[in-house]
Amino acid sequence: MEYFHYRDSAGQQELFAEDVALSRIAERFGTPSYVYSSAALVRRYRAFSEAVGDALVCYSAKANDNLAVLRCLGLEGAGVDIVSGGELARALAADIAPAKIVFAGVGKTGAEMAQALDAGIGQYNVESEQELELLATLAADRGLRAPVALRVNPDVDAKTHDKISTGRAKDKFGIEFNQAEALYARAAQMDGIAMRGLAIHIGSQLTALAPFEAAFVRLGELCLRLRAGGHTVSHLDLGGGLGIPYAEDGPDAEDGQLNLADYGALVQRTKRDLEAGITLEPGRWMAGPAGLLLTQVIRVKRNGNKQFVIVDMAMNDLLRPALYGAWHDIQPVAPRPGEALPVDIVGPICESGDVIATDRALPELRAGDLIVVRDAGAYGAVMSSSYNSRMPAAEVMVRDADSALIRPRLDYDAMLARDVLPDWQTGPAKA
Ligand SMILES: *Cc1c(COP(=O)(O)O)cnc(C)c1O
Repeated sequence: MEYFHYRDSAGQQELFAEDVALSRIAERFGTPSYVYSSAALVRRYRAFSEAVGDALVCYSAKANDNLAVLRCLGLEGAGVDIVSGGELARALAADIAPAKIVFAGVGKTGAEMAQALDAGIGQYNVESEQELELLATLAADRGLRAPVALRVNPDVDAKTHDKISTGRAKDKFGIEFNQAEALYARAAQMDGIAMRGLAIHIGSQLTALAPFEAAFVRLGELCLRLRAGGHTVSHLDLGGGLGIPYAEDGPDAEDGQLNLADYGALVQRTKRDLEAGITLEPGRWMAGPAGLLLTQVIRVKRNGNKQFVIVDMAMNDLLRPALYGAWHDIQPVAPRPGEALPVDIVGPICESGDVIATDRALPELRAGDLIVVRDAGAYGAVMSSSYNSRMPAAEVMVRDADSALIRPRLDYDAMLARDVLPDWQTGPAKA
């Protein structure tokens, strides 16, 4: 399953995305550009679906919300997990069947719920009593019953980065575990609500099975208690969170890697034991390895004994290294022969935190060379900004020998058009 690979031509290695040379993509679309492999998305979706068996796989749009990515997975039958009205608009524009859309998130507004009710989405994962009451009112006003799963907080530590842990009692997510039964009973009585079941999502980039297992067991116990109390629990949403190896020898590798087959077997066992319909919400696992960020070296400079490679991407394009201290593999598109030496890869932004990689052994790099940041398909472009008035990276999708621009780079006119001067500033400046 290698979608990005080196090919040899006349003794020179060159990195390809499927059948397209990355140098060709740089020529056509410029840099920095995210490059996604359509085959990678499709194969990952199929492998995941096969591993988990009979389940509704709702790709988590927040990992990568590009319409072409949603459409690529939607064409394979994927549903979509959304966390905002904007993501709902994207899922609908990508032609995802509303019944396959799940709305998660701790801060859904009334306007967003109304938008989802009007679209007729398949499930609301409700995170508080107040949210439940508002949803019930809005649905009843429309003569509808909103299909609801209560998102419970199982108080399980996902053993992942603190900022992407969501299932501990101290995290803001979900309904307190010991309140869930009472709220379920109340919800089942509400006019505008049709209770479907329970949901969890304990965090992202999990690299061990044990936290999943612990959370699924707790969810199962609650499910059985509710059923014993006479409630219908027909659906269980087991969330996302499956991690990916960011590098063979990167820091993540030491934790061991979570095996898709083991995860799938756990999901299938949970389904069998609890006899419920299963929904899953993978984001990172689906899209992360299917994308890379292609960037060009602006110049190389030495400060003391540090060699800095300054590239045309920055933390505004890929925030993960600055935000989480995340490690991404870096590869030259056309490696020069000779010794690999340690360099720091840095962006042009005026922040010392704008460092993409430190002390990486790479073959010599010169101004104009192309390099890639691997595994950037998830939580990459979606977190981009125009900090320093930089135009965020373009996005390109490849399929076989085809490539297409799926989100063009903004130009300066588009950037300037976003700001509006108040009328009192329109006169001439002092001489
Ligand atoms: C972010 C999120 C996901 C996806 O998480 P990944 O780690 O990308 O798989 C799934 N469900 C919910 C509720 C989320 O907030």
